[in-house]
Amino acid sequence: MVSKDLLEILACPSCKGDLDYDPQADTLTCRNKHCPECGMPVDDNGKCQDEECGKVSHTFVALRYRVEDDIPNMLIYEAEKLPI
Ligand SMILES: [Zn+2]
Ligand SMILES: [Zn+2]
Repeated sequence: MVSKDLLEILACPSCKGDLDYDPQADTLTCRNKHCPECGMPVDDNGKCQDEECGKVSHTFVALRYRVEDDIPNMLIYEAEKLPI
């Protein structure tokens, strides 16, 4: 479980978006569009904002972060990528 206080200050480390907490699965999900390659945000044209990646995509992913021993794992590269 993640405490309410912590939930209030947590944001997606990629896009700073709001996170949906699922207490049953103990996961935090950011439903904004992210690059399917690297998980960074994309601009209006679908271009990845990460300079090294720079991939232009037509499909995007949501990011789902796991909570491990009450501590959210907010590493973008370890987040599960869900097609949206
Ligand atoms: Zn995000
Ligand atoms: Zn990318």
